Amino acid sequence: MTTLLDAPVDTSAWTIGPPRLLAGLDRAERLDAAAHLATHGPLPGSDLRLLLGHLDAARLTGRGGAGFPLAAKLRALTGGARRVVVNGTESEPTSRKDRTLLRRTPHLVLDGALAVAHATGAREVAVAVHDERSAESVRAAAAERPDGRQVRVHLTAGGFVSGEARAVVRALDGGPALPPGRRTPPTATGTLVSNVETFAQLALLLRLGPRRFADTGTHAEPGTALLTIGGAVARPGVVEIPLGTPLGIVLAAAGAPVLPQAVVVGGYHGSWLAPLPQLRLGREGVAAAGGTFGAGVVLVLDGATCALGELATVTGWLAAESAGQCGPCRFGLSALAADVAALAAGRPAVAAAFGHARTVDGRGACSHPSGAARFVTSGLHLLQDEADQHLAYGGCGRPVLGQLPVGGAR
Ligand code: SF4
Repeated sequence: MTTLLDAPVDTSAWTIGPPRLLAGLDRAERLDAAAHLATHGPLPGSDLRLLLGHLDAARLTGRGGAGFPLAAKLRALTGGARRVVVNGTESEPTSRKDRTLLRRTPHLVLDGALAVAHATGAREVAVAVHDERSAESVRAAAAERPDGRQVRVHLTAGGFVSGEARAVVRALDGGPALPPGRRTPPTATGTLVSNVETFAQLALLLRLGPRRFADTGTHAEPGTALLTIGGAVARPGVVEIPLGTPLGIVLAAAGAPVLPQAVVVGGYHGSWLAPLPQLRLGREGVAAAGGTFGAGVVLVLDGATCALGELATVTGWLAAESAGQCGPCRFGLSALAADVAALAAGRPAVAAAFGHARTVDGRGACSHPSGAARFVTSGLHLLQDEADQHLAYGGCGRPVLGQLPVGGAR
């Protein structure tokens, strides 16, 4: 069943199957405390043991991109937590799901974060966001709750790499919103960081219990997930799906062309994939197709745009988003962007692009170079015919329509 939920453009949302995270948003633009309780019911009490048991049974992984099991993060807090951080920075420029939750159903997110704080003894829940509208919504929700005094809302600097968990913690501690040089996980200093949707999923899990939580989704990945779908579709927006839903069903519901040219799954650290209708959306299914599910972004390219030009635009943007503090990233991504731009202009640069992608992969203080390399190499593999055409004729005659947007409204 497909349900359209009424909402403003930037947080418009709809579901395939019964809504869970998005429940109640077909009747209200935003769920205040009373509407939240009426929709979801009260949150049952919990402690660390119950939390871990539920998380293990439901195999709940982080929904921010890395997909790390939340239970493993909790177990890494050997001395308890001093702070729980809700990472709502959503730096991936094409993702909207976390802001949709924060702006429209903030109590669900706070329920999960405060349950973790209670179970781990953390005194503070810090909600880090890049945008004032999400900050206002969370502040208003915290003011409605008896346990809301623990909640602090922080507006941190924007930028693609500023949303990385260690960059967020560094910013909250008064430093620049950049990944630190050392790859020390936040749990080592008693800080648990997880993504907005992960906390909202935990709030559902505590209410439903693992068995009902697994009523939908797959055996390996129970439950639902939020996608942000965009590009050449009639109905862009945030979509809640049962994990494992075939891509073809999502594309049809979103009003994509019957024969898309390609899809980009996982955002700009994700992968270009052939739009196979049977591809199962979820970490497992996308990995089986050679991609990465990331934060659940699905972007569709139709035959009207120059896909190689789209690839070049995003690669240039990724190079510009390097924080510039690690040499391989700063210089390697610029070289990679120049290669892809040359290719789009019809000059031979495929070998150079693969070479520069290999050079940056795994280098630097954060995952930005590896993510950019994955994006570019998957694009080059998928667009071999287009590259040959550009080489033979200097282009393909199609304009670059910006179906893979960069920047944009926050
Ligand atoms: S790898 Fe790149 S983006 Fe990441 S910290 Fe280093 S310079 Fe910044």
